[in-house]
Amino acid sequence: MLVIKSSSELLNLISGIKKNKDTIAFVPTMGNLHEGHLNLVSIAHQYGAVVIVSIFVNPLQFNLAEDLNEYPRTLEKDIIHCEDNDVDILFVPSDNDIYPQSGEGQRINLPELSTLSNILEGASRPNHFSGVVTVVKKLFELVRPDYVIFGEKDFQQLLIIKKMIEILDLPIRIISSKTIRETDGLAKSSRNSKLSSNERQLAINLYKVLKSIREQIISGNNNFIELTNDGTITLSESGFGPDYLVVRDCVDLRQASVKNNNDRIILIAAWLGKTRLIDNLRL
Ligand code: AMP
Repeated sequence: MLVIKSSSELLNLISGIKKNKDTIAFVPTMGNLHEGHLNLVSIAHQYGAVVIVSIFVNPLQFNLAEDLNEYPRTLEKDIIHCEDNDVDILFVPSDNDIYPQSGEGQRINLPELSTLSNILEGASRPNHFSGVVTVVKKLFELVRPDYVIFGEKDFQQLLIIKKMIEILDLPIRIISSKTIRETDGLAKSSRNSKLSSNERQLAINLYKVLKSIREQIISGNNNFIELTNDGTITLSESGFGPDYLVVRDCVDLRQASVKNNNDRIILIAAWLGKTRLIDNLRL
């Protein structure tokens, strides 16, 4: 496996790969790799392509300096995980590599994305998605992937990147991976390592609430407002600071309506102490 730390080195490699007419499958991450990320890598391998993983903790998508500074950075372990999972190239650019000028000045905003990026995560974390779109676009320009793999764990992000690819008419196929969970149901996340042992015990309630709402909807209760209100109360009582708990249409994250039969998804974000967790469950 090659560990590449500068974009100029990467560009040379990519032009070699393109000359060979090989395809590229790309998994962008912020590191602190866990089985959720490694599942994306195993999906990448299914396309017979050169598999490239990037690790870049993107300052533009963090709202709080504290959150950015405390984001877990475990490069040595990540390198071993990538080697063990047959990654061909691990790209670990510096801030300067991705943002040669001032980061903020390079932030891109795609107006066509605003409906999707101003709600839910976007409402709670202003500018988060413009930061995501900016870095993903930069990484796509450098890596020039044929396939990109993203997790459904960040469902709103997945929809936004799909839409970005469509708007910019990029020749990229996007593939999604189901959410990988701990045995008790908690979605794997780099942020889980910030939970105290007591918080870690409580954290499973997030998935329990999602499952309970799903079961009730499946058994015919379509009162989404009441279901999500009850779920919010349950979470508050077990020590969470709920941010949102909603049932939405899977295609555009609009309010789910009993009138149309589109697929639906339950999305949740809640604080547990100083850690903000997100999760979702499709119906
Ligand atoms: P991150 O490093 O958190 O930016 O995540 C990088 C990619 O891994 C994103 O596409 C995430 O959606 C995906 N991902 C993170 N956690 C999981 C998980 N538990 N299961 C599946 N994919 C995940």
